Amino acid sequence: MMKTSLFVLLGILALPALAQPARPVVIAHRGASGYLPEHTLESKVLAHAMGADFLEQDVALTKDDVPIVIHDIYIETISDVAQRFPERKRANGHYYALDFTLAEIKQLRAQERVNPRTGQPVYPNRFPPGKSSFQIATLEEELQLIQGLNKTSRRVVGIYPEIKQPAWHRKEGHDISRIVLPILRRYGYATKQDPCWVQCFELDEVKRIRTELGWEGRLLLLLAMNRKHPDGTSAEAWFTPAGMMEVAKVADGIGPELGAIVSGSSKATRKVTDFVKHAHAAKLIVHPYTLRADDLPKFAESMDDALEVLFAEAGLDGFFTDFPDLPVKWLTARGLR
Ligand code: CA
Repeated sequence: MMKTSLFVLLGILALPALAQPARPVVIAHRGASGYLPEHTLESKVLAHAMGADFLEQDVALTKDDVPIVIHDIYIETISDVAQRFPERKRANGHYYALDFTLAEIKQLRAQERVNPRTGQPVYPNRFPPGKSSFQIATLEEELQLIQGLNKTSRRVVGIYPEIKQPAWHRKEGHDISRIVLPILRRYGYATKQDPCWVQCFELDEVKRIRTELGWEGRLLLLLAMNRKHPDGTSAEAWFTPAGMMEVAKVADGIGPELGAIVSGSSKATRKVTDFVKHAHAAKLIVHPYTLRADDLPKFAESMDDALEVLFAEAGLDGFFTDFPDLPVKWLTARGLR
């Protein structure tokens, strides 16, 4: 009798541990974008080979409603569009993907991100802009690539599509979520058991994706600090335990900037915030963005130092990084994968 009770007690004690994710995940931010131009299929191949658990897709629409994988809704920062179609910019100086058909998008050369004002690379030590030959990929091309690699490598690397600026797309007459979600389902990403997270910065759209559009897969709300989201909400409102409970009604995870997880502007002054604690209490997974070896957060003095505080001290469930090989190595060395 005593033995049984003890067993039951131990079983109950073990439950919270079992409810935690098995190990932190590494999400390749725009692919292995520290090494190859962001969101090119080449950067996704490299991230897959480096052992990332998830590969990120930022998704925007073309004029003919084809989802393509690009970070911004405009394309002059990562392509030669200004040279090829100089007359196609809008009054604000941007060349919007939504103003080009897929056939036109496919005529462009993709390249390492540059500052359009100076023409200089945003990250000077990365792949040289304008070199070699890259294209902008459609979402379907990328899903086919990842599923093909999963087959040949006998690994399951997940996808992490972000619906870019849905309120803006709808204002322009294009319902991006209604176009993207059926494609995900068609490729086998439909439930929370499937290796897929859908992410979005707009809480109104996250709610709509879950309710009106009936998405049953995993869903993450992204948070940008110190600025209003396009749907009028602000990130800080969701940092409280009550706010996180509200988010958890529709989302499975929450993705803030790294500064929400660790505050302070140096190693000496840094402090792990209550963010992860509050999120986990609301049963939200936490996947912040973005760890870059060539643009470290101010609270860390090296990549190893950043990994130590984020994984070991803050207890994150994973994060977005331009350098997926580094956390994979760090976790492997500690027996965590
Ligand atoms: Ca993104």
